[in-house]
Order: sequence, then C-alpha cells, then structure tokens
Amino acid sequence: QRAKNNKKAFQIYDPIFDQNAIERLFLTNNLRTAIEQNQLTLFFQPKLSLKTMEISHVEALVRWQHPEKGLIPPDSFISIAEKTGQMDALTRWVTNAAINQYLAWQSNGIHINIAINISAENILDKSYPDYVISLKQQHQLTDCAITLEVTEDAVVDDPEKATEVLNYLNQSGFKLSIDDYGTGYSSLAQLKQLPVQELKIDRSFVQHLLDNENDQIIVKSTIELAHNMGLSVVAEGIEDEATLLFLQSQGCELAQGYFISKPLPAHEFEAWLSQSNYKKQTKTHAKVLD
Ligand code: C2E
Ligand code: MG
Ligand code: MG
Ligand code: MG
Repeated sequence: QRAKNNKKAFQIYDPIFDQNAIERLFLTNNLRTAIEQNQLTLFFQPKLSLKTMEISHVEALVRWQHPEKGLIPPDSFISIAEKTGQMDALTRWVTNAAINQYLAWQSNGIHINIAINISAENILDKSYPDYVISLKQQHQLTDCAITLEVTEDAVVDDPEKATEVLNYLNQSGFKLSIDDYGTGYSSLAQLKQLPVQELKIDRSFVQHLLDNENDQIIVKSTIELAHNMGLSVVAEGIEDEATLLFLQSQGCELAQGYFISKPLPAHEFEAWLSQSNYKKQTKTHAKVLD
C-alpha cells in the first residue's frame, strides 16, 4: 500500500514501467525506418451528417503496421514523433497518403471529404503548410475537400504564430477544425481569433452523455457557443443511437463514433460504405461547411 502511494518507489520497482521504457526506446529507434519504408498505414472513420444523414466526411487515422509487433496505435508513437523531431515527416506521409486515397475514391465515384490530423509543430512555421498547399494545387483539389484537425495545445503554445499560420491555411482553401475540444486550455479569447470553421467535441464529454447531466450541459452550451460563433460542430465517440439522436436534436452537424463505424482500412471502409444504410454523397460539396 505504501509503495503504491509513493510515486517514485512505485515507478522504480514496477516492471511494467521498465517494459514501457524499453518499448518507447524501441519505437523511437524504429519510427524513422517505419516512415521511410511505408510501414505506416491509414484507417478511415466516417463522419455522418446529422442534417442529411449522408456520409459526407471521413477522417484518416494513422497506424504503424510493424513487421513483428503487428498494428501499433497512434497514441503509442505520435508523442514519440513529437518529442524526437519526426512530426514533420510523419504528417507529410499521412497527408500524401490521405490525398492519394481521396483522389482514388473520387475517380471511383466515392465523393467524400477527408480530414487529416496535424500536430502543434506542423503549424509553428510554414514548412508543412507550404507542403500541403502545394499538394492541393498540384492535384487541383477543391476548397474544403480537406479538413485539417488541430488540437487546442497547438494554439495555446504560441497563439500568435498559430493564428497567422491557420489564417494562411484557411485562405488557401483548407477547412480547419479544433479537435478534442474541451480537453485543452485555450481560452474563448483565443478561440474567437482563430479562423476555424468547426469544433470537434471531445469524446470524454460524449461517451456518457445521457447518464451525466454535467456532460449534457457542457455539450449543449458548446454547440450553442459554436453556432453563435458561426462554427459547425462534430461530436466524436458516439457509441449508441440514443446519444446520436440527442446530439441531432441539439443541432450538432456531424457525428462520429463506433455506433456509426470504427476506423477501418480503406477497402473495408469501401465495403462498409456500399452496404451501409446511410446515404452516399453524389458529389463532394465545395465550400459547404457541414
Ligand atoms: P482523434 O483525432 O481525436 O481521433 C479519434 C480517436 O478516437 C481515434 O483513435 C478513434 O479510433 C477513437 N474513436 C472514434 N470513435 C470512438 C468511439 O465511439 N469510442 C471510442 N472509445 N473511441 C473512438 P485512434 O485512431 O487510436 O487515434 C488516437 C489519436 O491519435 C487521434 O485522436 C489523434 O489525436 C492521433 N492521431 C491519429 N492519427 C494521426 C495522424 O495522422 N497525425 C496526428 N498528428 N495525430 C494522429
Ligand atoms: Mg481527429
Ligand atoms: Mg478528436
Ligand atoms: Mg482524441
């Protein structure tokens, strides 16, 4: 009991902690190779429009397909990439792969907007923004075909720089979304400066929504706040129909979560889409926010 309460002793003697340290070292050393040798792969999770019941967007989520260890989830290596200066390479890989998939779907008649997650580091200078803008021009992508999901920490670290770079991206035709909204420390004053079009409510507020009155208050007022600021709202982490219907009744524009679909490899996502009862978009909507 004592050792448990003493954090230091607990960490030193816990074999699981050692195992994690070894694991992290292993991942750090191998991530560069993983990016270079295409061991990364994208899974895709749909976003359902609660207005039209169309699958209008899809989010690309990276995984590491390790030759021996199998599929490694992003939470195990994104923070390593951030700490070891590999975020630029990783996000470029993801962006390139996501755009190629988008183009392949377009030419196969699957019209769906795509969302890419980017890290704080990617908007601290213009290196990544210039890259994604050049891809957009090269492939003549329509405005709002691509959403960039940014977490609040990106904004908190350096609000002035973040605002400048986000403006640059926005003016170049990217839709911008604040991911995991409510978990970070951005202030309303910072938020109102940002050229974003969407708030994505973190799943920690959504998961127990119907059983938790506080979560309901938070979600309702966030939707209202977003709408008053001219932003659309996505709720993530929807795991049952009742929660989906509640969010729809509150005017939430987009829904995402296991109830609709888990993230899937591209071909499985295509199969899911073709048999799903949700409507498929007949064309991608340019300049439409939801
Ligand atoms: P996120 O962007 O907030 O993505 C949502 C995460 O929640 C995904 O986990 C997804 O599988 C999970 N999720 C979705 N619906 C549900 C649900 O109904 N219930 C539950 N329990 N979970 C749900 P995943 O794919 O493991 O990604 C975790 C995080 O890793 C992402 O959170 C994102 O922050 C980061 N990430 C993923 N791919 C990338 C990437 O390409 N670049 C960067 N920078 N970060 C990424
Ligand atoms: Mg996201
Ligand atoms: Mg999120
Ligand atoms: Mg998240």
